[in-house]
Amino acid sequence: MPSMDVYALATAGLKKLALNQECRDAFTKDSLFFKLFERAAHRYIIASDRRELSEKLHLLSGKGYLLGVEYVGEENHDPRVVQDFVNEYLASIQTFAEAGLKPQLGFDLSAVGLLISQEMAYQNAATLLSAAAKHDIPIMISMEHSSAVDSILEVYAELAPAYLNVGITIQAHLHRTVNDLPRIIGYGRKIRLVKGVYNEVREVALPRGPELDERYLHLLEDVLAAKVPVSCATQDPALIKRIFEHNYFPGIQELEMLHGVQPETLRQAKDAGLACRIAAVYGDSWYLHFLHRLAESPDNVIEALADFYDPSRITFGAGY
Ligand SMILES: Cc1cc2nc3c(=O)[nH]c(=O)nc-3n(C[C@H](O)[C@H](O)[C@H](O)COP(=O)(O)OP(=O)(O)OC[C@H]3O[C@@H](n4cnc5c(N)ncnc54)[C@H](O)[C@@H]3O)c2cc1C
Repeated sequence: MPSMDVYALATAGLKKLALNQECRDAFTKDSLFFKLFERAAHRYIIASDRRELSEKLHLLSGKGYLLGVEYVGEENHDPRVVQDFVNEYLASIQTFAEAGLKPQLGFDLSAVGLLISQEMAYQNAATLLSAAAKHDIPIMISMEHSSAVDSILEVYAELAPAYLNVGITIQAHLHRTVNDLPRIIGYGRKIRLVKGVYNEVREVALPRGPELDERYLHLLEDVLAAKVPVSCATQDPALIKRIFEHNYFPGIQELEMLHGVQPETLRQAKDAGLACRIAAVYGDSWYLHFLHRLAESPDNVIEALADFYDPSRITFGAGY
């Protein structure tokens, strides 16, 4: 059995590969690697295309889950790619409205223009928030690497007062989150609390461990005390147990996990009476999302190889 250090190194290595541009390029659609690992990635990615989404979302919602949907994209530097991304969301909002679905949509501001200008990210996010609001669909903005947090919060400061259906993700591992939180709470919009997925240096963020778990719970207490809607987005069974033990769960709006990650854990929480959201992802640019899921628990590499060999191991909806 490998030691914990080997797991921590494997996690760091997989996150490094996730961000490596040459590796990303090797996984573009129709490449050899894409074809080899597409089936394994589909443990986490629910569909290649939005046209396949509605039926699957109905199946999960029929099992009693709230839903989240994200179109997997890369950071977009090209205005035309940004516009395609925005168009995809506008079309998906229409698809959901026609199918009677109201999933919480999520995206990175870097996918809607933040790498070009804050103004472009604001305009595109505002367009999507307006379109979603017409169908009572909420939008949750993701949080990205520490180097992007200032710009994301600046754009959010413009969006939050204007749109009731917007929310923001905050990362417990970043030291700055403790100071950012009062301002974010002040907007009164939904907060999604995560530990944080990006590799960060010690000066900027806490590594995984008890100190981070304590900080996560303190941040949660602060949000609950302010009576601001909060989602606990964690896949950590030990932390979920503590959320139950501390009796935080009547106050939190939901427990949220990514599709394909430990369905049984989410099902047990739902059966225990907690509102649970499955955050589902679709699209073909799944390399980063897939690698991050492998990094979160390197045992998933073994699972992915088994899925590659025998894709029939993956049955949509099983376990939920
Ligand atoms: C709905 C949702 C939205 C998110 N949005 C963002 C975001 O906007 N920005 C951001 O930085 N991060 C985001 N994340 C990722 C998040 O920051 C964490 O990296 C991720 O949830 C893993 O941390 P953890 O708390 O689940 O557990 P960790 O502390 O990473 O792991 C603890 C234990 O949980 C279990 N576990 C965790 N993940 C898995 C897995 N994939 N497979 C099997 N077991 C697992 C393992 O037993 C592991 O040892 C999001 C996560 C979710 C669920």
